[in-house]
Amino acid sequence: MKEPVSVETIPPLVRDAFDPDIFRQTAHQMVDMLTDHLQSLVPNNSDAIDPPVSKTLDWDRPQDMIKQWKTDPPAGFAELAQKVMANSIRLHHPNFVGHQISPPAPIAATFSFLVDLLNNGMGIFEMGMAGTAIEQIVIEMLVDKFGLPAETAGGFMTSGGSLANLTAMLAARSIVSDDDVWNRGNQKQYAVLVSSAAHYCMDRAARIMGWGQSGVIQIPVNDQFQMRTDLLESQLEQARQRNIEVLAVVGSACCTATGSYDDLSAIGHFCRRHDLWFHVDGAHGAAVAFSPTHRGLLRGIEMADSITLDFHKMLMTPALASALVFRRNNDSFQTFAQKAEYIWADESDETDDATHYDLAKRTFECTKQMFALKFYAVWQCLGESTLAANIDHLFQLSQHFSDLVNEASDFELAMRPQSNIICFRYTDADPDTNLCQWNETLRRMIVEDGTYYIVQTRLNGKSWLRVTIGNSLTTPLHLAGLLEHIRQLAQHHKKNPTH
Ligand SMILES: *Cc1c(COP(=O)(O)O)cnc(C)c1O
Repeated sequence: MKEPVSVETIPPLVRDAFDPDIFRQTAHQMVDMLTDHLQSLVPNNSDAIDPPVSKTLDWDRPQDMIKQWKTDPPAGFAELAQKVMANSIRLHHPNFVGHQISPPAPIAATFSFLVDLLNNGMGIFEMGMAGTAIEQIVIEMLVDKFGLPAETAGGFMTSGGSLANLTAMLAARSIVSDDDVWNRGNQKQYAVLVSSAAHYCMDRAARIMGWGQSGVIQIPVNDQFQMRTDLLESQLEQARQRNIEVLAVVGSACCTATGSYDDLSAIGHFCRRHDLWFHVDGAHGAAVAFSPTHRGLLRGIEMADSITLDFHKMLMTPALASALVFRRNNDSFQTFAQKAEYIWADESDETDDATHYDLAKRTFECTKQMFALKFYAVWQCLGESTLAANIDHLFQLSQHFSDLVNEASDFELAMRPQSNIICFRYTDADPDTNLCQWNETLRRMIVEDGTYYIVQTRLNGKSWLRVTIGNSLTTPLHLAGLLEHIRQLAQHHKKNPTH
């Protein structure tokens, strides 16, 4: 017989790990360090352009960064935090105008402590009662903003726009196809129609579902990078002739490369005519629903069967915070089941069965974060008018920047921006220079220099520089400074081409 195990006390090391006083002390220290970080990125006064920390990024080669962390690991709590800040890109720096993820409102970050310390799993209702209620309220607000029918619509939050789009496609397949795909797998070659400018995650979604290359039919775009909706009928007809069953059409609102909004109304009517699922990938741009000035860009979104929205792109919220909204909430229960086991009683939101509120039935996540809380905090503490003002300001700055580019003889604008994404390129080069390579070189130099942060994209086979103005701390002076900075780097490179 084995001796019974006796456990008398909590090991001191473990007990200390949970010591509330140590938490109070370290958490205060963290807040102080983060406040210093923020202050170092905001110019001292309104005339100053440069914040105390001049670089958005202290670039290092990946191999060197890994080596540095291995050979010189930080000693202790404060040094770890400082080293992470020193070696991370700084989204609050006014010269950060790169990817679509944007500087979060600091108030939202304070709720990161709360979310992480409570660590509610939220897959089932009792594991996150407040989190589930908040999520429900945020979704109801979106339903209203998008003009979906309040009686039937619903949704949830999930880990990013890409996963939201995949989840929507799974629901669409389950509902639109006549086949028992859940139990028997794909029975036919299915496909989704997207614009050729759609986010790459749509292509991935189709392939993940086992539809292969034929599962995504790309509709060409016009010169504004919007889907040629006049081609939808013929593309559908061609697909049918090839024995492909089209299940859904995805409208981009807006597309990632150029920030162009598809004609959602035209796509919506097409889908209604042909009984197809209408999904709106509004990961970036559906946020304009919060702006009375710009919400017209979403005309037709009220016809959608499902809509993706990222709060971490234009709504001042830390990542990840993505919503997937359904026209008929019941549809979302069929994503991971052939026949929904749980249907809202009489489509009313009154039900005694708490399991109806178990989010894991409808989401990929089993352990699920309180995704809605940080946005809810921004929305409640700062107010909707702050969200609207932020978007309007970003769009104005973007128009201003496109004017600057347009007026400069040594720069070329790809198109007038419809949102806060602008593609442009530097055209001052020797006649035999390949402009694509030249702009790729400049973009590399910009990253390695670190004063500004911008990205690049390819449009119609050509390379362009690309900015997303997602930072309301950026001013026209910083934007003018960006063009000047590019000129200087170009001059430098002409003099020292090997560098
Ligand atoms: C950013 C973006 C995505 C991807 O969203 P993640 O949250 O990064 O997964 C998808 N579609 C569009 C149009 C986007 O702009």
